[in-house]
Order: sequence, then structure tokens, then C-alpha cells
Amino acid sequence: MADMPLVHAVNVTKSFGDNQVLKGIDMDVSKGEVVCFLGPSGSGKTTFLRCINQLETIDGGRIWVDGELMGYQDKGGQLYRLHDKEVARQRREIGMVFQRFNLFPHKTVLENIIEAPIQVKKENKAEATARANELLDRVGLSDKPAAYPAQLSGGQQQRVAIARALAMRPKLMLFDEPTSALDPELVGEVLTVMRELADEGMTMIVVTHEMAFARDVADRVVFMDGGVVVEQGDPRQVISNPQHERTKTFLRRMQ
Ligand code: ADP
Repeated sequence: MADMPLVHAVNVTKSFGDNQVLKGIDMDVSKGEVVCFLGPSGSGKTTFLRCINQLETIDGGRIWVDGELMGYQDKGGQLYRLHDKEVARQRREIGMVFQRFNLFPHKTVLENIIEAPIQVKKENKAEATARANELLDRVGLSDKPAAYPAQLSGGQQQRVAIARALAMRPKLMLFDEPTSALDPELVGEVLTVMRELADEGMTMIVVTHEMAFARDVADRVVFMDGGVVVEQGDPRQVISNPQHERTKTFLRRMQ
């Protein structure tokens, strides 16, 4: 499926109990594209991200990443769940950065970054360390390999979390409100790293409330509300001239 976008989601549904959180999401993201998801709290943005990398199991629809069907094997139109090991392999191709930094507290910065490449990808330690140092340099933390997470600011920890995700050489990076747990003065340093990553051509889906970032960096913004995509398009167009009442109301509240 060579012509398929990097992410191809069709009619994705997801409920928690009787609360249907995703009501049939169709979403394509091209290779190298940066897409920001906006929308009120509870609209399903995080759940959709988590469905892409299979932290949640979808109830209906299908998601392909790089031409590969997530979570299922398609045998003549019949879908069969993949084994956990296969799901884990698919998940490894996708980097995710969470609102909270989720670093291993008892490991140094360097150990945090090399853990998965060594344990999961079986890279040798010297190779993984060299790459970790390169990544630390890239996120502006080349002086911190020996530090422990608790010795770092929230912004520094989040930059380590980005480096750790990149160490697995993902095809796609998912960011779930990566700056919303940070003190305001630390937001900029994380957004700068994300902006550089976007400039380098990484495919990114970002759930964020940072309107300036969405306007300046995203190729497209998607506005979600109540489990559906209400509107999407060019960031400047959607943010400055929203077409739908729900988008207008949301953006007014953000100002
Ligand atoms: P957003 O990211 O837009 O704020 P979420 O995807 O986090 O929205 O949440 C959408 C809805 O799904 C909310 O009503 C939330 O309470 C519910 N929800 C999310 N995760 C779970 C869960 N694990 N169990 C039950 N309800 C959940």
C-alpha cells in the first residue's frame, strides 16, 4: 500500500462503558506532516492518540501506520487480533511523549535513553550511547547525561522524554499535551525542540492548547469536539477564520 498516507484511520470508534468517546474518526496524516489537534477537554483527542499507538483498543474502524494495519491481521477480509508481541513491535515504531514526563526516576538521563534501544532493539551499548549523546545534544542537554530526573526541571525532563522516544527511530511522533504540566517559563524550550523536529521532517501529531505553536508550526490543525472532527485545515485559516460555531466558541475561550 505504497500510496497510503503514513497514518490512515478510517471510521475509528471507541467507548468507555456507555460513553462513546470517538464517534467515527477518519484521519490521514502524510509523511512529514505536522498536525495539531485542538479542542475542549474531553473531546477525545488523547484517546485518539492512544488508539494510534494501541494504548487503547479500538471498538470499530481501522488504523494503518506506514501501510501496516494496527493490532489486526486481515485474512481475506476477516480481522484477527495480533499477538501481544506483534502489537509491541508495531508500537515500537511510534514515539509518544506524554503530559507527564514518565522517566525512570532511578536511572540517569543517559540510562533512560539507552534502555529501550538496548533491551528491545538489541543495539550494543556503545552504539546506543553514542546516539543518546547525539540526541541529548539535539535537545540542548549535552551536559546532563549523568543527571537523575529529579535533578532536572520539568522542561529538561520533557526534552529527555523526547530524546528517549527518538532513540527508537520512530516513524511517527505523538505528543499528548507535552507542555501542559510545565511552568509557563519552561514551555518555550520544549516547543523549540518540537519545532526543530518538525523542521527536520518528522511526522508529528500533537495534542496541544498552544495556539501560537499550532499556528506557526502545524501544516494542518484538526478541531475535535464531542468525539468528532468538527473542522480541519490550514492553521491560519482555522484559527483566524473558523467556520463552525463550536470552533468559534472554543477559540474565543482560548484568548
Ligand atoms: P481530550 O484529550 O480531548 O481531553 P480524552 O480523550 O482524554 O479527551 O477523553 C475523552 C473522554 O473519554 C472523557 O470523557 C474521558 O473522561 C473519557 N476517558 C478517557 N480515558 C478513559 C478511561 N481510561 N476510562 C474511562 N473514561 C475515559
